[in-house]
Amino acid sequence: MAYYHIWTMGCQMNKAESERLGSYLEQQGYQATEAAEEADLIVLNSCVVRHSAENRALSRLNSLKTLKRSRPNLAIAVTGCLVDSEVGELERRFPHVDLFFGPGALPDLMARVGRRGDALPRHPSPSTLVPIIQGCDNFCSYCIVPYRRGREHSRPVEEIVAEVEELVGRGAREVSLVGQNVNSYGHDLPGRPDLAQLLTRLNEIAGLWRIRFLTSHPKDVSPEFARAMARLEKVCPHLSLPLQSGDDDILRAMRRGYTGEQYRQLIGRLRQAIPGVAISTDVIVGFPGETEEQFQRTLDLVAEMRCDTVHVAAYSPRPGTLASREMADSVPAAEKKRRRQRIEALEEGIAAEINAGLRGKAVKVLVEGKRRGRWYGRTLTAKLVFFSHGAELRGQLMGVRVDKTGPWWLEGMAFEE
Ligand code: SAM
Ligand code: SF4
Repeated sequence: MAYYHIWTMGCQMNKAESERLGSYLEQQGYQATEAAEEADLIVLNSCVVRHSAENRALSRLNSLKTLKRSRPNLAIAVTGCLVDSEVGELERRFPHVDLFFGPGALPDLMARVGRRGDALPRHPSPSTLVPIIQGCDNFCSYCIVPYRRGREHSRPVEEIVAEVEELVGRGAREVSLVGQNVNSYGHDLPGRPDLAQLLTRLNEIAGLWRIRFLTSHPKDVSPEFARAMARLEKVCPHLSLPLQSGDDDILRAMRRGYTGEQYRQLIGRLRQAIPGVAISTDVIVGFPGETEEQFQRTLDLVAEMRCDTVHVAAYSPRPGTLASREMADSVPAAEKKRRRQRIEALEEGIAAEINAGLRGKAVKVLVEGKRRGRWYGRTLTAKLVFFSHGAELRGQLMGVRVDKTGPWWLEGMAFEE
């Protein structure tokens, strides 16, 4: 028996691609192993969105050198955003790697290898990721993703519908549609279908209970879209809507295409159109030239918006991007860390308060699996819930009465509905 091991870093797109690669390998006779030292094939699915991630990817890649020396038959493949168009250069730098392939290139690779099988998980998780659009056309000034994942490329509606039907047939109950900017879905397809149309089609699939999607770009979320979200009963009231900064000059330098006020209005409209909608956001602190005053505007907007989660990153210059070329990385690392921790502390309080409001309430949880002896799953608004129960519940929808809450989780008792 041959074994494979995939090490996945980074975003949901990478997770989705690793899941599919694993499934394809299993159809070719491989079996998954947690222990990289035992594997015959190791795949590193990398992320380079920040310098720290790139360092981790490179040190992992270097550590594989020793393993390869002791086991020359070991095959090593690298994918994800570390792989740029200069594959020749990568091959020279890392001669112990057998294959480099770019992010999203799995379908092409499968076609080239010509073996039978598809890349859909045989036994998908009750909540499964489905990529719907590759690449990004936005070129935010700090971001390396468009250089590594290329221009936007949407998968046809019919292909996605057929795939989701197949996944539901194999046991999936919820799909998360993933892409760097899912709200620009379809503009490159004949007839220009949009995300609302895709959601409408998926909403009709029998046996599919919930639909999520991420990430949405604030400049591409329209009022009509919010209304469609509210109308479609299977679409979960949850949006991942990165803010990045609350200061208009920084937003302009980031090339985000909206102002703080526009973001504020968008959240207001979404909350009006979709009652109880949960919002997750991302923020970058210490962007080139960010003053204390500008940082304060971000902090104020985060305090005002009261999002359910905020992911904070310290700005990291990425070679090849406009920001790294033209703007000095002027905020010292210690100051970036202070700013990051201030937003994190603020958000921890906000999230704790929002979740405390759920104490005593009943929530519906799609059970995904067990962790340390307890079942876990998510609510409609993507809150993580833990509870104990003797029966086998994976893939079931359970009512849970919440009795304990923290900023990032809920706990409760299951009850029969
Ligand atoms: N497409 C999404 C969006 O519009 O924001 C997110 C994709 S990006 C790969 C994920 C997150 O990484 C971003 O929201 C941003 O906060 C962070 N990020 C991207 N480039 C960064 C950089 N150079 N330094 C720090 N954080 C960065
Ligand atoms: Fe990067 Fe901006 Fe595209 Fe998000 S929208 S992937 S931050 S370029």
